[in-house]
Amino acid sequence: MPLIELAPRALWGRPVIIGGGVAGAVAALTLSPCPAVLIDPVPIGWEAASRWAQGGLAAAVGPDDSPQMQAQDTVAAGAGLSDPEVAARIAAEGPATVAALERFGVHFDRAADGVFSLGLEAAHSRRRILHVRDATGGAIVEALGTRIAITPSVEVLTAAALRLVVTDGKISGVFVRHGTETMLLPTGTVVLATGGVGGLWQSTTNPIGARGVGIALAGRAGAILADLEFMQFHPTALAVGADPMPLISEAVRGEGAVLVDAGGNRFMTGIPSGDLAARDVVARAVFAQWARDGGSAALDVRHFAAGAFAARFPNIHQVLSDYGLNPERTPIPVRPAAHYHMGGVKVDAAGRTSVGGLWACGEVACTGLHGANRLASNSLLEAAVCGRLVAEDIAGLVDVALEHTSEEQPVIEDADGEIISTIRALMDRDVGVVRDQAGLERAIARLSAFRRNAEGTTAEDMISVALLIARAAERRKENRGAHFRSDSEAALEPAEHSTSSWAELS
Ligand SMILES: Cc1cc2nc3c(=O)[nH]c(=O)nc-3n(C[C@H](O)[C@H](O)[C@H](O)COP(=O)(O)OP(=O)(O)OC[C@H]3O[C@@H](n4cnc5c(N)ncnc54)[C@H](O)[C@@H]3O)c2cc1C
Repeated sequence: MPLIELAPRALWGRPVIIGGGVAGAVAALTLSPCPAVLIDPVPIGWEAASRWAQGGLAAAVGPDDSPQMQAQDTVAAGAGLSDPEVAARIAAEGPATVAALERFGVHFDRAADGVFSLGLEAAHSRRRILHVRDATGGAIVEALGTRIAITPSVEVLTAAALRLVVTDGKISGVFVRHGTETMLLPTGTVVLATGGVGGLWQSTTNPIGARGVGIALAGRAGAILADLEFMQFHPTALAVGADPMPLISEAVRGEGAVLVDAGGNRFMTGIPSGDLAARDVVARAVFAQWARDGGSAALDVRHFAAGAFAARFPNIHQVLSDYGLNPERTPIPVRPAAHYHMGGVKVDAAGRTSVGGLWACGEVACTGLHGANRLASNSLLEAAVCGRLVAEDIAGLVDVALEHTSEEQPVIEDADGEIISTIRALMDRDVGVVRDQAGLERAIARLSAFRRNAEGTTAEDMISVALLIARAAERRKENRGAHFRSDSEAALEPAEHSTSSWAELS
């Protein structure tokens, strides 16, 4: 057995936060002055979905709003699986979390009189979207990163978590890869904040590294996973062959843009709420256009006066220009893309997983807030609130630094890139916007075979997570929220959560 490299002794026993997006960064800062190690393979926030959030963060801070109203809207969107208690708790924490973010240096847009300037998004009954222009996530990540850089209690380690070590049912360390070196960081406290899984699909708006690493880390450690089949597909990602796909925000339809087919005809007119229908409804309609022979779908914004689109959506306009598109002349080509994972590592109210010493927050966690469908802008809120709650739960816990000499150091070979492309295309086709029994069975059979061949490589975890998602989707024989099967008709009663575990893979 190779000798195990240990992390510098000064880091032993500290809570280790894996992932430097909004959830992980807020957890690290809230823990301060309690020392913590924050690990991320890239500089804080660079590869985080948090940085790409355009719309904003939903919180009940307006004079005509209340956390109860936000919780009601959240539960209504969740298609029977959003837990009302969780929704009430997270919505209630919204105003305090916004205040904490502002203390960390985030400046949400305010009107001239100093009150928050609040946006309205689909299915929110009140204006409650806090934003920083149209680059909210970037502004939050930048402020948190700046604060972390001047917080001495947070030790930032540029490294990737490879495996959690569990001793007698409790976390006792993390293997990390730091450059070319693999080392063990002994700790009894780990917070998973690794983000989502969208990168498992070929068509995605997520950072390419968002391939379920946190689910794999937790799953291998024995944690219970929940609601893995619920993936939200965004209906209007820019279809120009980019990977990942740039997002064309829903706000564009909010400003009157309409969806048109290959012949330029509107196709949402016969559907209730038309172009502003719920995200999953629009995603399926756009998907149906592309599924037609020679079909495609596009967003027509030609009703804007000359120059008005660029003035209202400068960032989107810039992206379109980068691809040589002029929306004043030609409709913008769009197709659905994997966007947000409602499922994840099952956690309780304090963010504790089923494994001792392991917490999870942000998109990797399944708190029960989103149920089967996420209400727009609730995810940044959840990441910030839960990062804070997790840290408060951990603060003050006395941790014991353990020495490990008996653990086997993981040896993981690089996977062949072609297999990764194959898996992602398979997920688009068979575990995508519209699913059916035959496709899901095909996906399960192929993923199982790929998994056997990928053992011991960097592709094994992503294939395993994809397989768990496909199996959960196959077991759910109903249409609920973002999970839609062409061979099922309705949602079954009562609504039930699903659970999965790594053990089912063996
Ligand atoms: C294009 C886009 C637009 C969005 N717009 C909005 C919006 O307007 N409002 C909203 O509420 N939500 C929005 N979302 C969703 C929201 O951004 C995410 O759900 C949220 O930011 C997730 O935060 P997080 O901290 O959990 O994960 P992330 O922000 O994704 O951070 C995860 C971090 O983990 C790190 N990591 C990954 N693997 C490892 C490893 N092995 N070891 C160590 N670190 C690792 C990554 O490098 C990354 O820094 C959007 C998402 C996308 C993709």
